[in-house]
Amino acid sequence: MDRSDILNHLGENRENYFGAVSPPIIQTSNFAFKDLADFKAAMADELGSHMYTRGNNPTVQILRKKLAALESAEDSLVFASGSGAIANAVISQVNQGDHIVCVESAYSWTNKLLKDFLPRFGVHTTFVDGRDLKAIERAIKENTKVLYLESPTTMHMELQDLAACAKLAKKHHLVSIIDNSYSSPIFQRPIEFGIDIVLHSGTKYINGHSDIVCGVVCASKKIIDQIFQREYMTLGGIISPHDAAQIIRGMRTLELRVSKSDQSAKKICTFLEDHPAVEEIYYPHHHTFPQLELAKKQMSGCGGLFAVKFKTNSKEKMEAFFTKLKRFLLAVSWGGHESLILPAIALYDIPGRENPDMPVGFTRFYIGLEDAEVLIEDLKVALEEL
Ligand SMILES: *Cc1c(COP(=O)(O)O)cnc(C)c1O
Repeated sequence: MDRSDILNHLGENRENYFGAVSPPIIQTSNFAFKDLADFKAAMADELGSHMYTRGNNPTVQILRKKLAALESAEDSLVFASGSGAIANAVISQVNQGDHIVCVESAYSWTNKLLKDFLPRFGVHTTFVDGRDLKAIERAIKENTKVLYLESPTTMHMELQDLAACAKLAKKHHLVSIIDNSYSSPIFQRPIEFGIDIVLHSGTKYINGHSDIVCGVVCASKKIIDQIFQREYMTLGGIISPHDAAQIIRGMRTLELRVSKSDQSAKKICTFLEDHPAVEEIYYPHHHTFPQLELAKKQMSGCGGLFAVKFKTNSKEKMEAFFTKLKRFLLAVSWGGHESLILPAIALYDIPGRENPDMPVGFTRFYIGLEDAEVLIEDLKVALEEL
C-alpha cells in the first residue's frame, strides 16, 4: 500500500460513521454487547473486539493500523509516552536473571530504565559502542535476551548497521529492539532489515505539532498480542481516544513535514559548514559524516535534527550566541513545527547530575517548518558572537 493511502485512508471505515471524512472520537470507557454470545466472544479476544478502552478503543485502533503499515509491521500499540512504549516493550522480553545489550548514549530515560530500574528486578545491561559490531557481539552472554538499538542516537547521531545487527540477534536468539524516533517511518523502516520491535516517541515527528505526548510499539502480531495481554493491559499506559484523533490528524502531513525539515536542515548544514566558528557537523547525510555510507544505505533521509561543535570553549560566548537567536526556541524535545536549540551548557552544573560528555561548544539544533533562508539569516547574525 502506498504511503499517502496509509496516511489519508487506511483504517478509516467511513461507512460505519455517516461517511464522516474525519474519524469520530469514540469517547467512551465501556462498550455494551447485544447478546451473551457476543459478550463471550469479546471476552475471548479483547484485542480483536471492543470491550473496554484500556484495551482496544476504535479511534486508537485506526491510529494503530496506520502506524503498523508505515513501519511494515503486522500490528502496533500506542502508549501515553515514548518512554512508556520503551519500558513496556523491553519489560515484555525479559525475566529475572536475563541480560540486555544496549548501545551507549541511548535516550536518557531508556538509560535510566536499563541502569537503575530493571536491576531492581534482576535484569542487567551491558552498554556498548553501537558503531562497532564486534563490540556488540562480544557483549552477548549466555543469558542475553535483548539487543537494544537506537539508530541514529539523538545527540551525536551515531548509527548501528541494522541488517548486520538483526542478523547477529537472530544468530544468538535475541529479540532486537530499536528506537526509530530520529528517522520516523518515512526515512527508515527497521523491520525491513530484520529488526523485531520498532519503537517511537510519537511526541516527535509522528504527532509533530508539539501538543501531545505519546509512544508507539510496532512488531509482529505474535509479539503485539503478548505485550497486549500482559504489559499493556496490566500497566495501563494508554492514550485517550481524543489524543489518538489528534495524532491521526497530525500524521496527515507527516511526510510533508519531515521532508521540509530534511531539506531545510541540509541547507543549514551547508551554510554552517563554511562558517569559521564551526568545527564539526553531526548529520548522517552530511558529506563529512563518518558513517555516511551506512546512513545512505539504511536511511532515505534524515529530517531536521543535527548537532554542531563550535570551536569556542567559552560559555559566555555560547550564551551570547543562543541568546541572540530570534528564530530558535531554547528547549528540549524536537519533531514539531518550531525550530529549537539545545546547547550542551544547558546540561552543565545541574544539582544531582553528572555533567554531560559534551564540550562547551556542542549544540543540538532541530529545524522545524520555518523557511531555511529565514533561519540562516538569524544564524548569521548570532554567529557574530562566536
Ligand atoms: C523523546 C524521546 C523519547 C521519549 O519519548 P516521550 O514521548 O518523551 O516519552 C524516546 N526516545 C527518543 C529518541 C526521544 O527523542
